[in-house]
Amino acid sequence: MNDVLARLRELRSGDLPTHGGRTLAYVYDSGVSEVDEIAAAAHALASSANGLDPTAFPSLLRMENDLVARAAGLLGGTAATAGAITSGGTESCLLAVLAARDARPEVASPSVVLPETAHAAFHKATHLFGVRKIVVPVDPETFRAVPSAMAEAIDESTVLVVASAPSYAHGVVDPIPEIAAAAASAGVRMHVDACIGGWVLPYFAKLGAAVPRFDFGVPGVTSISVDLHKYAYCAKGVSVLLHADAELRRTHYFASAAWPGYTMLNPTLQSTRSGGPLAAAWAVVHHLGEEGYLRLAEITREAVTRIRSGVAAIDGLRVLGKPESTLIAFTAEGARFDLFTVADEMKVRGWYVQPQFAHRSSPMNLHLTVTAANRGSETEFLTDLAASVASAAAAGPVPVDPDVAAFVASLDPATLTGEQFRGLLAVAGLTGGAGLPERMAPINALLATASEPLRERLLTEFLGALYTP
Ligand SMILES: *Cc1c(COP(=O)(O)O)cnc(C)c1O
Repeated sequence: MNDVLARLRELRSGDLPTHGGRTLAYVYDSGVSEVDEIAAAAHALASSANGLDPTAFPSLLRMENDLVARAAGLLGGTAATAGAITSGGTESCLLAVLAARDARPEVASPSVVLPETAHAAFHKATHLFGVRKIVVPVDPETFRAVPSAMAEAIDESTVLVVASAPSYAHGVVDPIPEIAAAAASAGVRMHVDACIGGWVLPYFAKLGAAVPRFDFGVPGVTSISVDLHKYAYCAKGVSVLLHADAELRRTHYFASAAWPGYTMLNPTLQSTRSGGPLAAAWAVVHHLGEEGYLRLAEITREAVTRIRSGVAAIDGLRVLGKPESTLIAFTAEGARFDLFTVADEMKVRGWYVQPQFAHRSSPMNLHLTVTAANRGSETEFLTDLAASVASAAAAGPVPVDPDVAAFVASLDPATLTGEQFRGLLAVAGLTGGAGLPERMAPINALLATASEPLRERLLTEFLGALYTP
């Protein structure tokens, strides 16, 4: 047993660190040492239990109802608020779309109205569930949804309107009250995607921050998603989807008596559901409690405030919009250096920051997810960031061969064969088996010249190459 665990530890040592605040994407670290231990112990106690049948495992039922009630309490819910625990933010968003679609069977070609900053999970939902997406431009300065444009996009086919609190890409909160009013007056459901902000913005508000209204206190909001595996600092695999009432939830429930086995009854997309993530989340939420989360929000707010003003003060960097939460996106001012080289330089200095490609009014940028674990090392981070910018400036722009760029720009992903894709990947340096190159900037510079459909296809092929045993 020790052998295999030693091997696992060895494998894990090659990963990005999940603690200590050096990885500013994908991971959420409270910096509270016993949280991991509690989560692991609770996970072990319940991972053999199966949420498929809540009557067989009433502990899971009890913990789920308890967490839904906690989330509802935090997000302006009422006695009528109902919910479900899902495997993550994407599943919560998928179910919001599914419930909205199936509540309107009379609509022949249902559509969802999304601001262009809505999370990609909604694009996935429309893709999976055969719903049309109506994507509405956001304000190019603030990156917030424009209520009048959202309202205009609503028509008889609209089954759901979506807005974010905050958006992942820029960390800004959409004008929820205005958008929800437009949805309500059209008789359409309104989902607030608070996957990343739902467990931290209410605490920011309690600390006196001017947080825009986004919860069930806003008339017209019919559902809210909030991920416990983000700012509730729970182990991965847990999100909450809340509905203003149980009737709104019913249409994402699934039942099948049409086979000889047990009558399948699923509140979510999963059927067998491990009790592990749920129990781990329940234990962490109760351990940290109101006081714990308030304190963590305070620490996080200090860290994000320091980092935001520090980034803005670095010559050549500009923060996008006015981030109101725990996320910061910044771009390069002028073309004196390549921004994605800055990410590589940060990696050399032991930090992971996330590159985001340009999309519509949003220029290419680097994205930071700030957590409580970043408090205390802001100066070190900012010093290394300034040094990384200086190194990137010294290195100059990343050259993309104009012939290669022209060739890439001319490609149509719909007509390329698998073999041609693999050839392209090799040109791009994305071969999978050999692992990733140390420096991603040259690859990202080439990918940035590709159309979005081509980039999607290229990276899908790359994923397939990675997942080859
Ligand atoms: C993280 C996130 C999601 C998706 O959540 P996953 O847990 O990664 O599936 C959806 N919306 C927003 C705003 C998010 O930040």
